[in-house]
Amino acid sequence: MRTAVVVGAGIGGLAVAGALARSGWQVTVLERGDRVRGDQTALILWPNGVKALDALGLAGGLAAIATPLPDSGVRRPDGQWLVQPRPGATRVPVIVHREDLHDTLVAGLGDRVEIRTGVTVRSTRVSPDDRPAVSDGRTTYEADVVVAADGIDSAVRQRLAPGSTVVSSGCAAWRAVIPWYRVPPLNDGRPVVGETLGAGYRFVAAQLGQRGSAGSSTRGGIYWVATAAGAPRPESPETQLVLLRRWFARWHAPIGDLLAATEPDDLVQQEVRELRPLPREYGFPAGPGGFVLLGDAAHAMPHHLGQGACLALEDAATLQSLLREAVPGRQVSEAVAAYSRLRRPRAATVVRQTRRMSAVLQARGRLALRARDAALGTISPA
Ligand SMILES: Cc1cc2nc3c(=O)[nH]c(=O)nc-3n(C[C@H](O)[C@H](O)[C@H](O)COP(=O)(O)OP(=O)(O)OC[C@H]3O[C@@H](n4cnc5c(N)ncnc54)[C@H](O)[C@@H]3O)c2cc1C
Repeated sequence: MRTAVVVGAGIGGLAVAGALARSGWQVTVLERGDRVRGDQTALILWPNGVKALDALGLAGGLAAIATPLPDSGVRRPDGQWLVQPRPGATRVPVIVHREDLHDTLVAGLGDRVEIRTGVTVRSTRVSPDDRPAVSDGRTTYEADVVVAADGIDSAVRQRLAPGSTVVSSGCAAWRAVIPWYRVPPLNDGRPVVGETLGAGYRFVAAQLGQRGSAGSSTRGGIYWVATAAGAPRPESPETQLVLLRRWFARWHAPIGDLLAATEPDDLVQQEVRELRPLPREYGFPAGPGGFVLLGDAAHAMPHHLGQGACLALEDAATLQSLLREAVPGRQVSEAVAAYSRLRRPRAATVVRQTRRMSAVLQARGRLALRARDAALGTISPA
């Protein structure tokens, strides 16, 4: 029986664990948390992420929880268009509640996956002669393939690619889902969706499902994410909410109404961080198998293009297709090397585009803002 250990039960880890199990691998997932669950916010999946879920055989599960997002353009805080929306665009992203996506991924695991919670991987054994292994200090977990899906602070990556470090992206983000029963009448009944860019600030809002639900889920509501240049705030969620309401006070409707309807418990604050430089390799042959880096462990980037989870799903679909028929020995080693050759350039391209967006977001001063607005006005919405 071919065996894999997946470190981390986030979106990337769950997606790849199910994918390998459905290809006949016996999989053990090691998760440091005491439960496997998503946070209480939402996620935008762009067409590449949707296509990856389809390739993973999870299109049906996604259809039950996803809400399509019409193209909404980009506005300035005063409501003027920077990029006009394209009505009727066909390849639109979808939005899902993170807990719903986690539930869908867990439902796709099947009985070939064993999940061990409360296990924090602390060390990694890499040797040309032995099967790859990780350990929490008490138990050593050995397999033909070890997938490091343990997020931006990945312990496995720190051992395999120590030259890649985690740095601040110079901004902080706040997210919330306002549940339907607390959403006030907004936007004259039209869907709430849109992106607004100010000097050092950005606000994105999207409607999660129809009033009362999101597909078969009851976790519908309005999702918003606010980004501000600078460090995260040390104050209580109550004070953070006061600050957010102040920063966005003069922004066009319904941003003020959304912040007014948000409660401190809805708020999830996060420092935005990224990997610099990216690891040079994403695959490390070892013994008859090897290690691979996947998701944020491989390519954590700022959230500005909403691509982190989409790329993690692409990683999982790629690894599944490379390992589907491979047997331990030369075939698995080659698959691990091929994964790196395919995924590293793809991630580097998306990271480059994301960094351009970071520069746009951080533009300050009248001249820089004028140049930004002019540039944004000419870009293709695609
Ligand atoms: C504000 C914000 C908005 C975003 N919006 C979007 C969006 O709209 N669309 C999109 O595609 N992406 C978005 N992203 C990015 C997305 O959230 C991440 O890229 C994605 O969640 C990464 O998934 P992952 O499974 O690789 O890592 P994680 O979700 O970080 O999961 C890692 C898992 O590993 C576990 N773990 C960590 N260390 C260990 C260890 N040593 N031993 C055992 N377990 C361990 C953790 O507990 C966790 O469960 C956003 C990010 C932010 C910050």
